[in-house]
Amino acid sequence: MSERINSLVVIDVHGSECSLSDLECLSAAFTVAAQNDGQVAVLALIDPEIDVDLNIAPMLISKGADKVFWASKENLAEHDLGSYVQVVSEAIEKVEPKAVFLTHNNFGADLAPRVAFRSRSAMVTSTQAVSFEDKGEMLLTRVCYGGRAEQVIKPATPTVVVTLREKVFEPLEDNEERIGEVSELGVQTLSPRVELLEQNREEQKGVRLENANVVVSGGRGVGGPDGFEQLKELAECLNGALGASRVACDLGWVPHSWQVGLSGKTVSPDLYFAVGISGASHHLAGCGSAKMIVAINTDQDAPIFSAAKYGVVGDYSELVPALVAEFKKIV
Ligand SMILES: Cc1cc2nc3c(=O)[nH]c(=O)nc-3n(C[C@H](O)[C@H](O)[C@H](O)COP(=O)(O)OP(=O)(O)OC[C@H]3O[C@@H](n4cnc5c(N)ncnc54)[C@H](O)[C@@H]3O)c2cc1C
Repeated sequence: MSERINSLVVIDVHGSECSLSDLECLSAAFTVAAQNDGQVAVLALIDPEIDVDLNIAPMLISKGADKVFWASKENLAEHDLGSYVQVVSEAIEKVEPKAVFLTHNNFGADLAPRVAFRSRSAMVTSTQAVSFEDKGEMLLTRVCYGGRAEQVIKPATPTVVVTLREKVFEPLEDNEERIGEVSELGVQTLSPRVELLEQNREEQKGVRLENANVVVSGGRGVGGPDGFEQLKELAECLNGALGASRVACDLGWVPHSWQVGLSGKTVSPDLYFAVGISGASHHLAGCGSAKMIVAINTDQDAPIFSAAKYGVVGDYSELVPALVAEFKKIV
C-alpha cells in the first residue's frame, strides 16, 4: 500500500462538515499524488457523535481522497496535542506519504512541527504553491519577510510536513463516481500531561476571517473600540470580516482571534483594508498575499503604503464613513 499512497491530508473535522481550507489541502494533496501516479489518503479526526460513513467519508472521497482513515476525537485532547501527534504519526507510518498537508491555521501550525520532529521529516510552513521539477521532484514555495520575499524549497527527506495557506488551491469539483476505502485508525490513549480547567469558546459571527474575500483591519490609529464600529460598517457593506493589528488586540479593543500577522492569522482575501496600521513586517506576514491592499493612514511615509496597491493619506474617521456612503450606493 505504502508505495502507492503518496500524500496524506490531516483534517480536524468539527461537527459534520469539513472546512473549505481542508478541501483546499485535499486538492493540493491530489496534485502531488497525480504527479506521482499515487493516491491520496486523508486522516479525518472526528467528533465522537459523528457517523463518518454518513457524509464525511463520501464527501472526502468525492473531493479527491482514495483512502479515508478516521479516528475518534474521544481520546484526543485539543489542549494537549501529544495525543494528536501520536495519531498523525501512526498515520504517517502506515501510509509513508511523500507529503503531509495541514491547513496553516493555529491547529496546523501547532501540530506540524511536532509531527515533523517525531517523524524526522522536513517541514515547510505557510506554503502558497506546489510545483514540480522536470524529474518530478516536488518544490514548495512559501512567503517570508512579511510577504516581501518568497522561498522555493526542495524537501530532502522522504516525507515533508506542509502547512498550506488558505485560498491558494481551489477545492476539486465533486465527483460522486469516485470510489475510496474507509477504515478506522485506533488511537492509543496517552496519559494526559495537562489538565483542562476551563475553556471559553468565542461565538463565531458573520464571515470567517480566514475565508473572507474582503477583510477590513484596524490598528492603533483607529484609536479604540469605537473606531472598530466604523470599520464594522465598512466590512458589513462589503460582506467582509474584521481583522486587527496585534497592538489593537493587545490593547483589548478587539478579541485576539482578530489578529492578523506573524503571531496571528494568515489571510489571503481579494481585498484587504489596512486602516490606521503602520505596516510592520510582522503584520504584513499575515496579509501580504492579499490580492489588493488598500491603506488608510495619516502618515504618508507609513511602510504600509509600499505594500498597498491603493493608499489614502488622511484621517480614517473622515475617510471610512465617506467610503461606506459610496459603497452603499453601488453594492
Ligand atoms: C515576534 C513579534 C510578533 C508580532 N506579531 C504581530 C502580528 O501577528 N500582527 C501584528 O499586527 N503585529 C505583530 N507584531 C507587532 C508589530 O511589530 C507592530 O508593532 C504592530 O503591527 C503595529 O501595530 P499598528 O500598525 O496597529 O500600530 P502602529 O505601528 O502604532 O501604527 C499605527 C498607525 O496608525 C496611523 N494613524 C494614527 N492615527 C490615524 C488616523 N486617525 N487615521 C489613519 N491612520 C492613523 C499612524 O500613522 C500609524 O502608521 C509582532 C511583533 C513581534 C516582535
